Formats: sequence, C-alpha cells, structure tokens
Amino acid sequence: MADTFRPGPEHRRVVFLTGAGLSARAGLPTFRGPDGLWAMHPSLERAMHAGALPASIPDLWRVWPSLYAQAARSGPTPGHRAIARMRGAVVTQNIDGLHQLAGSTDVAELHGDAGRAACLEDRCHWSAPLLPGEGERAEDHGVPAACPACGAPTRPDVVLFDEMLPADALERAQRLAREADLFVSVGTSGVVFPAAQLAPLARASGATTVLIDIAPEDPVGARARFDHVIVGDAHEVLPAWERVVNGVRSATFLDPFG
Ligand SMILES: [Zn+2]
Repeated sequence: MADTFRPGPEHRRVVFLTGAGLSARAGLPTFRGPDGLWAMHPSLERAMHAGALPASIPDLWRVWPSLYAQAARSGPTPGHRAIARMRGAVVTQNIDGLHQLAGSTDVAELHGDAGRAACLEDRCHWSAPLLPGEGERAEDHGVPAACPACGAPTRPDVVLFDEMLPADALERAQRLAREADLFVSVGTSGVVFPAAQLAPLARASGATTVLIDIAPEDPVGARARFDHVIVGDAHEVLPAWERVVNGVRSATFLDPFG
C-alpha cells in the first residue's frame, strides 16, 4: 500500500537531507551512468579523487564552476522551492547552491560549494566566492591562483573522494538531526555516509524519519531504516506537502478576510 504520510502541525523542526536526485531535474548530471559526469568528462573520474591533487586542479577548475553556472541558469526545482517555503533546515550533499537560490537560509553543505574557491592547504581556511567562467585556471573564474592567506594553490571548494567532510558542516548536520522532530531524506539512497548516520541519529533523538525516493535502491532496507518510505517524485510529493504545511499554518480556510 502506498505510504501517504504528510507533515502535521506537530512537526516544528523539519530537516531535509538532500542528494543528487533532487537536482537531477535542473539538468545536473549525476556521477555515473551514460549521461553522467564520468562519461562527459572521462578525465574527471580520476580528478575527483584527492590522490590526484594538485595535478588535477586544472580539471577541477574546468568542470565545477561551469556546472555551478549551469545549475544557476536552470534554477531551483519545484522540490527545492517547496523545501524553502516549508522553512525546513537543509543538510545537502549537493554543491550547486540551488537550496540557497530557492530561498533556504539554514543549509549545511556536506560536500562543499562549487560556487566558492578554497585553499589546497587543509589547515588554511581561506575561501571566497567565484565568478564562473570558462577555463582551467583560477583566474578564469575570478579568483587568484595563489591563496592570499598562505600562497598555496587555490581550488574549487568541492569535497573530493577520500577527502574529509568539512567538520563545521558535519557538526551542524548532526546537531540538526538531533534537534529534528521530522527528518526527511530526499533523492539520496540513505545507505552511504553521512546519510546512513544522520537518519538513525534523528530517529534515536525522537524524530519521525521519512525517505522520499522515486526508485529506492534497497526498498526492504529502507523500510527498516525509515518510519515512512514514499516511493514517488520529490517534485510532486514536496509541493503537495508544502500546500498542507502552509495551509495549516496560515489557516487560509478560516480567515474571513483572506
Ligand atoms: Zn591558504
């Protein structure tokens, strides 16, 4: 039977964990698959591993700012907009800035932000917004090639495979999961770190947990990990939720002057 869970007025602290599935509709490629990044940019698969640094920096400059610009041109999806209008906090594995463009203000970015540059040196905390351009040099994207703070090379602020997640974003994500009364995983399989850790953390802290996924990879496992599994398109499910949530909050039907 289809799960028809909807948020109610008892859900005051809603946290959304979002992954690539939410942005796919904005035309952003996923990593794998025939239309994925690896197929489009064969050199990028190697460049996405931390071990390829610093030689891979030109590849990273060539790809990430242009993907960020492409996301900005496509704009947020109906799912991003619904999340922003529900005023939920967001923990995202996406690097495209679309939650912020949709109007979400509380966003923890676990995998970085393709709209920013950072320093190659882990311990240096220099970071700056970039202006996406075309090319394989930092200067092509409006940022210096050498870190103004320490002189090390700069790079897109995107977390590569085998790199640590940013500690501040991870701490914030864990705090949001502990404080949530409704934790909703959207477009992410929920089996890899940190998604695998955040939903159980939220549940152990008393939250209701929900997975929204058009095709869950492991439906049986998902039903064990989440209180509700909604097999459906997030761009239909979330706007429907938003109408319920904002209908309740603004009491439209009871307002004689509305
Ligand atoms: Zn630096």
